[in-house]
Amino acid sequence: MVGLVDCASFYCSCERAFRPDLLDTPIVVLSNNDHWIIALNAEAKALGLKRGMRFKESRSCIDKNNVAFFSSNYTLYNDMSWRFIETLRELSPVVEPYSIDEAFIDLSGMSNLSAYGETIRETVKRYTRLPTAVGIAPTKALAKAAQRLAKQRDGCLLLDSPERIARALEDTPVDDIWGIGRSFAEKLTAEGVRTAADFIKVPEWKVKKKLTSAGWVLQRELKGIPMAGLKGEPNPRKGIISARQFGSPVKQLAVLQEALSYYTELAVEKLRSQHCTASMVTVSLEAAGTAGRISSEVEATDYLPDLISAAKLLLKKIYSPEAEYWRTTVYLFGIEPVSGRQLNFFDESYAKMEYLKEKVDEINSRYGQHTVHPCASEFRNEWGMRRDYISPNYTTSIQDFPAARVLPVY
Ligand SMILES: [Mg+2]
Repeated sequence: MVGLVDCASFYCSCERAFRPDLLDTPIVVLSNNDHWIIALNAEAKALGLKRGMRFKESRSCIDKNNVAFFSSNYTLYNDMSWRFIETLRELSPVVEPYSIDEAFIDLSGMSNLSAYGETIRETVKRYTRLPTAVGIAPTKALAKAAQRLAKQRDGCLLLDSPERIARALEDTPVDDIWGIGRSFAEKLTAEGVRTAADFIKVPEWKVKKKLTSAGWVLQRELKGIPMAGLKGEPNPRKGIISARQFGSPVKQLAVLQEALSYYTELAVEKLRSQHCTASMVTVSLEAAGTAGRISSEVEATDYLPDLISAAKLLLKKIYSPEAEYWRTTVYLFGIEPVSGRQLNFFDESYAKMEYLKEKVDEINSRYGQHTVHPCASEFRNEWGMRRDYISPNYTTSIQDFPAARVLPVY
């Protein structure tokens, strides 16, 4: 059996985890530069607020209803995500993170799964203060369907009999099936397929023809035939992108180089966390009405200074002193596992470099992103994001550690 554990309103729940005063309070989280609402909890949704609404335009509703609002704090969310996954690893030997706030876990050979689902929820809540919904079923696609229904009941749903599976499939509209995109959903609805229960009745040859073999795999999974085993680790990404919009337009090359170096640093951190190298760097620069983009091949590497030099060289080629830029992006491609890299036999600096990279990773993972960093990416406010309502980094910064005061009772 497979479990899918998903955190409810993840960003808002992370904010609430350290603010018990926000229990039952509507919460919204804003995009970079505080432009849009990007996440909101059920209480905020009930007020008519929606994802994608402009912050400025929703401000009156927010103020009138005492909605708590936060700039997005990805340092906090990433760290909470790590805590969530580590907690799951104590509960099952095989955990496959699926996104920042959900993971599949292997529950094969376990009995009394309904109770175990509750144990998972309680343990995650106790260790991280994050609320979760758990779906347990014979396949990943069914676990995903079960989790969707569990979320509506705020709990855990076990699909362990043909009757329960059939009922869950009837309760799953076709456009809520995991992996069915909007265009596939439209094709199916046009054929009179309204629910997952209808979908599994479509003949397999027809599914293959209309929805390709991915649709067929999904259909078999929904029939209870496992097609996608648990991998334990997510697939390494094919490309890594790091980009942000500037708080205000930027003209000087030096400032752009600094910003680009910083984003390269973030991208290389992701690259190294999946034990890969990149062999292609692309840089783009966007100004009002124009955008430049340029790529270059490099020797496969995960060494930050080399990748920063490559990115800065590219930036120079597309930079124009007249333009006012509002965004720069770095893309890393040609991503392959470190183990497959060709080593240069005569290069004695290799061992030293490996040692340096390891130590930098160690320090940054312990004391927070960007603690040790190249001078090239010194953080300056000129290009920094606007994050006026950011919460403290409760879990990664010692200054932000929450303090509790205990008052004596006489
Ligand atoms: Mg979620």
